[in-house]
Amino acid sequence: MASFSSYAIIAATVLTVVAGQCPNITSRAGWGARPPKATAVMRLPVSISVIHHSVMGEGNCTTTPECIGVMQEIQDFHMDGNGWDDIGYTFLIGGDGVIYEGRGWNRTGAHSPGYNDISIGICLIGNFMDHLPTTGQLEAAKSLIKCGVERNFITNDYQLYGHRDVRDTDCPGDMLYEEISLWPEKATPAP
Ligand SMILES: [Zn+2]
Repeated sequence: MASFSSYAIIAATVLTVVAGQCPNITSRAGWGARPPKATAVMRLPVSISVIHHSVMGEGNCTTTPECIGVMQEIQDFHMDGNGWDDIGYTFLIGGDGVIYEGRGWNRTGAHSPGYNDISIGICLIGNFMDHLPTTGQLEAAKSLIKCGVERNFITNDYQLYGHRDVRDTDCPGDMLYEEISLWPEKATPAP
């Protein structure tokens, strides 16, 4: 089974090189991630993408060195404060417009209980209750999802949710929620 998954990932990667549509993603090594305590492989493709905001790092992640610091703070909080195995999100996007690898495409996350093993969780760093993320952050989120579809990590007919669609929370903030509601793939709240 593992060899089949590996083959599928390699095949998808080769396809992506041909398509050439994927944005740069700063790897875990690139932001100095701690190793996870444990990992679980997630079955791909998933049919749901969930958008989050971090609240943590608000106003303190406009340059890449700052965003790397915030990435490490979020991971420390998730692992040491919440007791999780790793940073919770699949990917995070800084105010610098850079995409940072969280758990990565094929690892089950900790971001939306009930949906963690069937969705990609994308967190935009900041608090978006009363203002929007940067244009760079929003464009990066769209291009990351597009890339996931092209690589067949996300299904072609995926549904887009804000965290509040699947849990009682303010996340991803009023302004960001309003923004993603205009994106064509936005689904109505989950039952
Ligand atoms: Zn959230």
